[in-house]
Amino acid sequence: MIRTRFAPSPTGYMHIGNLRTALYEYLCAKREGGQFVLRIEDTDQERYTEGAVEVIYNTLRIAGLVHDEGPDIGGPYAPYVQSERKGHYLEYAKQLVEQGTAYYCFCAKERLDELHKENETAKYDRHCLSLSAEDIARNLERGVPYVIRQLIPNGKTTFVDAVYGEITVDNDELDDQVLIKSDGLPTYNFANVIDDKLMEITHVVRGSEYLSSTPKYNLLYKSFGWEIPKYIHLPLILNEKGEKLSKRRGDASFEDLLAQGFLPDAIINYIALLGWAPPADNREIFSLSELIGVFDVSGISKSPSKFDTQKLTWLNGEYFKKMDEDEFRKLAAPYIQKDNPKLYSMVKSRISFLTEITEKLDFIDNFNLPDTALYTHKKMKTTPEIALNALEAAEAARDRFTDFTNDKLYETLTNIAAENELKNSQILWSIRTALSGKPVTPCGASELMEVLGKDESFDRLGKAIGKLRQEAAK
Ligand code: GLU
Repeated sequence: MIRTRFAPSPTGYMHIGNLRTALYEYLCAKREGGQFVLRIEDTDQERYTEGAVEVIYNTLRIAGLVHDEGPDIGGPYAPYVQSERKGHYLEYAKQLVEQGTAYYCFCAKERLDELHKENETAKYDRHCLSLSAEDIARNLERGVPYVIRQLIPNGKTTFVDAVYGEITVDNDELDDQVLIKSDGLPTYNFANVIDDKLMEITHVVRGSEYLSSTPKYNLLYKSFGWEIPKYIHLPLILNEKGEKLSKRRGDASFEDLLAQGFLPDAIINYIALLGWAPPADNREIFSLSELIGVFDVSGISKSPSKFDTQKLTWLNGEYFKKMDEDEFRKLAAPYIQKDNPKLYSMVKSRISFLTEITEKLDFIDNFNLPDTALYTHKKMKTTPEIALNALEAAEAARDRFTDFTNDKLYETLTNIAAENELKNSQILWSIRTALSGKPVTPCGASELMEVLGKDESFDRLGKAIGKLRQEAAK
């Protein structure tokens, strides 16, 4: 069975790249009916931020990326947390020491600092590799602080990544990295490998920045005689300026995007398309369960993708359009003062954000008589004079407006236009302008009349006619 894991370090910030990794991990597993595990990699206490685990946890919950196992706390599973599993790692490191693929290092911090003084990235010089068994035993007995280092063998390491293909690294480039720190805790790299094995992870999905660490991991797997998981490294996501996404640069996290009014499903849909292309057709809208059906690793691209707020905004609008009416009512209610279902359907397909509703509907409660100039519209062939004729014709026919529903209103208006030798556009534009007072509205004349009702519509019409007559008399 395919088992994947999302293994974030709790830094307090889930950027879009992290979330995409989680999403692809989830999709890889679910596509094959497999399992998805959440593991918090917090052994690097210096990087720990208060509340960071909650950020990860909430993000995944809202995004619908629910993990399938973990400590049982009654209710949804807790994630695995490495700092709670401290006891597991040392014995594995000692096993490697016994095998000769890792060694104790007692070098004091001063010595290592000296080593890095001239070259920060200098590899460890293997000073402690030559210690005799007696020296080591004596140091351990005396309680001299130590770390355990991986002994990188000579040669080359080759591995295959599902996205980047075959990669070969000269082992010479790899440092004898620390596996167990002097506080007894594993380094992030070591804990990562041990836990992937203990949790029976079959597919590792992560950012391409880990490509260069992968050979070190593979050498550890080899030392233990464990099977190497399948690797799926993901291309970078760049911000709109073409830079790597980062909190420091102010790039939006998942939480920020939610706060800006993006819908979780739209964000997930958009993120899925950042670096992955669905098979063949041009379809771009996918729910999470649809993604499970179509996701395939072969669609992941090697080249970086760019976060495009405009595209996400478009997608957000599409999600409002396809949203079920009841759900939309719940979300939009705080922005719509009158409980009129027409208003909901009027804005549902015309917004990218709920906050746009207020402005779209402000002609209802914040009505101002339009400036006369607004009646002039070249394409509609309308001028203030024509508008006055059209509005007067409508007013004169007031008794014929018996059925105040959109289609009937449209019919009545266009009949009046024909009888008065007006074009449809001339009466419709004039009425729309007179009733809304605005150059742009989310609907046409008949819909406007429908939502305003007969009294309000004719009241506004009367006032508009008054103003146009006054202007004409000047
Ligand atoms: N803990 C690593 C991170 O924060 C994840 C590395 C991995 O997935 O192997 O990105």
